[in-house]
Amino acid sequence: MTMRNDDDRRFAELLHHRSARLEQGDPVAPPLVSAATYHLPRSDVGGFVYGRMSMPTWEEVEAQMAVLEGAPCVSFPSGMAAISAALFAAVVPGKRVVLPSDGYYTVRLFAEQFLMPFGVQVDYVPTVDMEKADFSGAGIVYIETPSNPGLEVCDIAAVAARAHSAGAVVIVDNTTMTAVLQRPLDLGADLVVAADTKAPGGHSDVLFGHVAGRDAVLMQKVRDWRKLSGAVPGAFEAWLVHRGIETLELRLSRMCASAKVIAERLAAHPKVRALRYPGLPGDPSYAVTARQARGFGFLIGMTLESAERAERFLEACPYMARTTSFGSTHSAGERRARWGDAVPEGFLRLSIGVEPVEALWDGISAALDVV
Ligand SMILES: *Cc1c(COP(=O)(O)O)cnc(C)c1O
Repeated sequence: MTMRNDDDRRFAELLHHRSARLEQGDPVAPPLVSAATYHLPRSDVGGFVYGRMSMPTWEEVEAQMAVLEGAPCVSFPSGMAAISAALFAAVVPGKRVVLPSDGYYTVRLFAEQFLMPFGVQVDYVPTVDMEKADFSGAGIVYIETPSNPGLEVCDIAAVAARAHSAGAVVIVDNTTMTAVLQRPLDLGADLVVAADTKAPGGHSDVLFGHVAGRDAVLMQKVRDWRKLSGAVPGAFEAWLVHRGIETLELRLSRMCASAKVIAERLAAHPKVRALRYPGLPGDPSYAVTARQARGFGFLIGMTLESAERAERFLEACPYMARTTSFGSTHSAGERRARWGDAVPEGFLRLSIGVEPVEALWDGISAALDVV
């Protein structure tokens, strides 16, 4: 109850985060400032210097995200730019990096192509086994919960406590939940990484990411990584994400409520072979998610009998964008085995959007009738 009141206060504050800084005549919405250089007659006073170091519009979206995360945030041009920054900020020579074997696959590709060649040992652990994994000799323990696309979870506080006692830094990819639904820093994580390309941007028109953390030393490294590697977001992208985040909590409440209704109906449908949604009390992810998150998300894993049936479902459903990615205003579906994810051929990741739920269900149910 207290948690909900605190969360609600934060969501309200988010919409007014600029108020205290506004002067007479200032725009209420943040200005989109695209500038590489700034008037700089002196070098001994503060202010903006050069666009690779800081930009006014990043600072607006970072201030807004900081309200949600309850921590300083550094923005990046994509989720992977944020993830690679966090990994490079925390990697320790001679120490292992533990990654989920069933999380976002590009993170594993990144580790294999850019960490392993420098002698970093990278070990994979299934998300559900993280709570009992061996973290000895680990410099980084990286988790993603619920995982994309399998929606497996692990107990963030339990993993963080064990990782810390082994001397590791804990990084949590919070993309599938966002800071509205889950705050890993409150549960002991050192760094949160997220693809704001998904629900925060929310309209399928921008790539963005951020790192959040309360450890000043780690966050300075993340900031230095951005400045020195040059992985800087554009001003327009930051502006779009700021606009998206204004409605994030509102969109998520519709998306999560609809996902629950649709997951319940799909679970009872004769054409559905298997159904994963962390919000169904019988789901293996239910108990941990109920304990550590504020909601159950908008992603559903639905398995139909075959690849052909799954593709036919997407073709027949009028309200499922046939696209990769998730978290947008429109519902979307994708057969993940086409990219080699370790899921059944007929597995579809459904991302529930903001369509009125009964219209969406009519479309889904009619499509199931014809597959
Ligand atoms: C999409 C995604 C990413 C990467 O985000 P980009 O903006 O595409 O770089 C990272 N982690 C998870 C869980 C994702 O779903």
